[in-house]
Amino acid sequence: METSVTHTDVVVVGGGLAGLAAATYLARAGKSVTLFEKAASLGGRAATSNHDGYLFNRGIHGLYTGGATEEVLQDLGITYTYGSPKETFLLHDGQIYPFPASTSSLLSSHLLKFGDKMELGFLFSRISRVKAESLAHLSVQQWLESNVKHPLDRQLMASTAQVFTYCSNLDLVSAEVFLSKLQLSLKHPVLYIDGGWQTLVDGLRQTAVEAGARIRSGSRVSAVCYQDAQVEGVQLSDETVVAASSVILATGPDDAAKLVDGGTYAPLREIIDPLIPARVACLDVALRRLPEPRYPVVQDLDQPRFLSAQSVYSRLAPEGGAMIYTFKMLDPTQQSSPRQDEHELEELLDTVQPGWREVLVRRSFLPHIEAIGMLPTALTGGYAGRPKPEVPGIANLYLAGDWIGAGFLSDPSLGSARQVALQILEVEKQVRKPETMLG
Ligand SMILES: Cc1cc2nc3c(=O)[nH]c(=O)nc-3n(C[C@H](O)[C@H](O)[C@H](O)COP(=O)(O)OP(=O)(O)OC[C@H]3O[C@@H](n4cnc5c(N)ncnc54)[C@H](O)[C@@H]3O)c2cc1C
Repeated sequence: METSVTHTDVVVVGGGLAGLAAATYLARAGKSVTLFEKAASLGGRAATSNHDGYLFNRGIHGLYTGGATEEVLQDLGITYTYGSPKETFLLHDGQIYPFPASTSSLLSSHLLKFGDKMELGFLFSRISRVKAESLAHLSVQQWLESNVKHPLDRQLMASTAQVFTYCSNLDLVSAEVFLSKLQLSLKHPVLYIDGGWQTLVDGLRQTAVEAGARIRSGSRVSAVCYQDAQVEGVQLSDETVVAASSVILATGPDDAAKLVDGGTYAPLREIIDPLIPARVACLDVALRRLPEPRYPVVQDLDQPRFLSAQSVYSRLAPEGGAMIYTFKMLDPTQQSSPRQDEHELEELLDTVQPGWREVLVRRSFLPHIEAIGMLPTALTGGYAGRPKPEVPGIANLYLAGDWIGAGFLSDPSLGSARQVALQILEVEKQVRKPETMLG
């Protein structure tokens, strides 16, 4: 079969946040960059679907500030408006209580007894001084058992850890993740983005295109081409070969593995096969109005469930309408039951937002979507156990995404995209140096 051949300095595979950011950094530095996205539209898990003005993110999304996501968006000049949740509530034994997030709400809490309040107050005053990295090999459960004695405090901290880590199995997940995320959240707000996360995707796409990157959606890359331990480009599913000096796989781990030697390249398989993703079940509902405006954000103390009517704080629904996102954190070691999970999320809505069924416009259920490509576990030593961007044995082939490097959720996704772009530019500088010296 005849194949057409084109050339570009860098090929980026994947048009989610990581791929778009990496393409922008490189195009701005003067590289010719071509990004291929297999789906018809860009954004990956950060995409938002608009149904008559009701905005469905791919499950619940908040921008956690103070990390690489905020830095990279700022670096690349991506602007967005947002709102921040004012108060979180706790659901316990069918009753709703304010989350004791401040000293005054802790002291006035009807949920906790005096001894619980003293322990929690003391714990929070110590938390900012904890060196989270030193807890990398400890599970959240082990940390809770040695640091939180009162049963209700432990339940509260465990429930918060499940929400923060997107994982219901706290024996698995590294305490480093929970503690570092808790520390960040005490100083930096979470933002609900107006227009959904599509606002960030559109901003990144526009910036990438303005910088000169070529973006091809609806184009699936089928293989990485390499020879003599050096990347040479990619092959598309229509058999077009695109030659490139560097290739970035900004996909999920499984998709990345499939692209090298049809999934049989052992050094990559050894990295990818042991990874444990964090999956969640999401039930999102568009409503004509919000039935119970008093409790827009609710964390369930008794089950790993969370609910946020984000449209109270940001532009996600038409005037008067509401968008509520709910999710259940799953246990990666157990088979989930989508029907049961959906039912439990409906029950959460029934308890917190009674009457939601009567004003329902549209619903979306995602039974087990991957919220994090690689969960940092205690066994693999927290963030230090995450894969690095280089693919062993193939020069100039790189990995980027939420499973590479340190940080959680979109932080490693955008952080690794920036790191890989800088690495590629550094390698090129080194290659060019001898020429400069000769000249
Ligand atoms: C339910 C849920 C809740 C979340 N909540 C938050 C949150 O509150 N805060 C936060 O910061 N993050 C959150 N995240 C995580 C965030 O969405 C991701 O970290 C981020 O979107 C990942 O971007 P990415 O570019 O690394 O990967 P992806 O978005 O997965 O993009 C990879 C892209 O590669 C494409 N691709 C794969 N194979 C090929 C191929 N062969 N050829 C061409 N293209 C290919 C895919 O189609 C996809 O578009 C959440 C995620 C989920 C699912």
